[in-house]
Amino acid sequence: MKNLIFDQEKLEEFRKKNKLQPFRIKQIYQEIFKNSNIDFGNCTSLSKELRESLDKNFEILSIKIKEIIEGYESTKFLFETKNSKTFESVLMYHWHTKNNGDKKINRITLCVSSQVGCAVACIFCVTGKLGFLANLLWEEIIGQLLFANNYIKNKFGKKDDGTYHKVRNIVFMGMGEPLLNYNNVKKSIEIMLGQGYGFSLSKRHITISTSGIIPGIQKMIDDNIESMLAISLHAPNQELREKLVPIGKKYKLNELIYILDNYYKKTKNRIFYEYIMIKDMNDLSKNAIELSKLLKHQNCHINLIPYNENPAMPNLQETETSSIYKFKEILENNGLTVTVRTNMGREEKSACGQLGWENIAKG
Ligand code: SF4
Repeated sequence: MKNLIFDQEKLEEFRKKNKLQPFRIKQIYQEIFKNSNIDFGNCTSLSKELRESLDKNFEILSIKIKEIIEGYESTKFLFETKNSKTFESVLMYHWHTKNNGDKKINRITLCVSSQVGCAVACIFCVTGKLGFLANLLWEEIIGQLLFANNYIKNKFGKKDDGTYHKVRNIVFMGMGEPLLNYNNVKKSIEIMLGQGYGFSLSKRHITISTSGIIPGIQKMIDDNIESMLAISLHAPNQELREKLVPIGKKYKLNELIYILDNYYKKTKNRIFYEYIMIKDMNDLSKNAIELSKLLKHQNCHINLIPYNENPAMPNLQETETSSIYKFKEILENNGLTVTVRTNMGREEKSACGQLGWENIAKG
């Protein structure tokens, strides 16, 4: 069986056995993290002999790609783990329009999965309908980023400064509840942030999105996890939250707000709230007033997300655009900062709450 190239001890053993200079290790990781290679055969700064020997002994990716669904706004990847569990991640493209009207890729975000399926069972989410199937290992989480960077390199090539286009932002908003797979998520973030042995991403560009797992948020505070935090709130009071996000029964809204206040005191990181807009359910003016009261003491930012169609919940409907903007206005009049999220990736069924669509649609 091949070792993972990220097993630094095994790579060091290999280096000594093959009488390689220590700088070769740095070169190998540079080929992977900086040059976005996922195949030793393409690591051309290494000798042919070394490439072949690495290929015999090590693997870069521990996941397999099964399907790629390409779109203009996003690309969805369907991966498979070694024990045949499938999961998805999504690349989202932010385009810039030049003066002559041409479009140029500006920045790229990867929405990664941390689990296969999810136990939290939010009513508006396809993944939740699958139930919990497995935790992804840290190497399966960073495998998504390795594959995505290689895909981007082939699709977009180099930037004006001669470096390759890459993922700039990571959001843990794919399948699963990241704080219920804490250790693997933590280790994957260390590698995302790492220089040399890592992707050199900025901590401002990595966001953990949680449905409000209080012990996990406490661990983030204790371990000083260097990433941003987004809360899938979706309701301004306990009763409604329990309906939309059933784990809210266990982790009460007042306790959640209390720990988030502590999180802010410790980290000084602004907190992001996700609020999905579902017609006649949580999108009324009185909900906006209540939400304002709940959050106006915090340094936070609220993202309003139009509900995306979901085959498992045919009765839920998207809020009309005019009502979303009315809701936004109420929040803003109460001093909150708010963005209405554009719905990227609906056609590819890769928008918020839609991951796992094919599994559900198949029945
Ligand atoms: S929204 Fe997130 S936490 Fe809720 S069921 Fe879906 S994947 Fe799980």
